[in-house]
Amino acid sequence: ENFIIAIDGFSSCGKSTVAKSIAKKLNFVFVDSGAMYRAVTLYFLRNKISFTDSEAINSALENIHIDFIPNTEKTQILLNGEDISDEIRQMEVSEKVSEVSAIKEVRRAMVAQQQQLGARRDIVMDGRDIGTTVFPDADLKLFMTADPMVRANRRYTELMAKGERVTLEEIIENLAHRDNIDSTREESPLRQAEDAIVLDNSNLTQQQQLDFVLNLYNQ
Ligand code: C5P
Repeated sequence: ENFIIAIDGFSSCGKSTVAKSIAKKLNFVFVDSGAMYRAVTLYFLRNKISFTDSEAINSALENIHIDFIPNTEKTQILLNGEDISDEIRQMEVSEKVSEVSAIKEVRRAMVAQQQQLGARRDIVMDGRDIGTTVFPDADLKLFMTADPMVRANRRYTELMAKGERVTLEEIIENLAHRDNIDSTREESPLRQAEDAIVLDNSNLTQQQQLDFVLNLYNQ
C-alpha cells in the first residue's frame, strides 16, 4: 500500500518547503499542486485564453501537458516540455492564478492528473484541496497556518532574492486576494479537512516543522 501525505493551507505558509523536506527524508515523490495551477495560468495568459470561454478553456486544457522533473536541488516543472519553474513564480501569474483555479474545468482536469500522480506510489502533495478533494483518504493530513505578516515577509524575501520588483504592500494584497478567492470559490474551496492536523509554523524552524511531521508519520 502506498502512503499519501496531504498538506493544505493558505498562501505562503511554507507548505512546499515542508513537503519537500519530508519527501527527501522519506524518499517520497513531492508534487506541488499549486505549480500545476500556475502552469495553466501561464498558458492561459500567453495564449490569451478568456477565463469565461468554456470552449477555449477546454481545448486549451487538452493542449496542456505538465511534467515534474524531480532532482536534488529543486523540482522543475515543465509546460509542454518547457521549463517554466521560475516564470510561474512571477507576480503576473500570482495575480491571476486564483481566478484560473476557480474555473471548474481547470479544477477537474488538475484533480484528475493529481490523483494519477498519487496512484500506487508514496507521495507528499501540497495545495488547497488535497486532503478534502484530491486524496480524501490520505494517510496523513496537515493544515498549515502562519501569521499573515510572517507569510508576507517570507514571500517578499523569496521574490527579492529572485530579483522580482515587488513591494511588501503588493504581496500582502496578493496573499489576501488569493486566500479570499481560494476559500470562497464554488468548486473545492480551501478548507481544513476534518481529520487534518494543524501546524502553525509562525515560530518554528524548518527542522522543527520536519520533526513535527516525522513524529506524526512514525506514530
Ligand atoms: O501553492 P501556490 O501558492 O503556488 O498556489 C497558487 C494558487 O493555485 C493558489 O493561490 C490557488 O489559487 C491555486 N491552488 C488551488 N488548489 C491547489 C493548489 C493551488 O486552487 N490544490
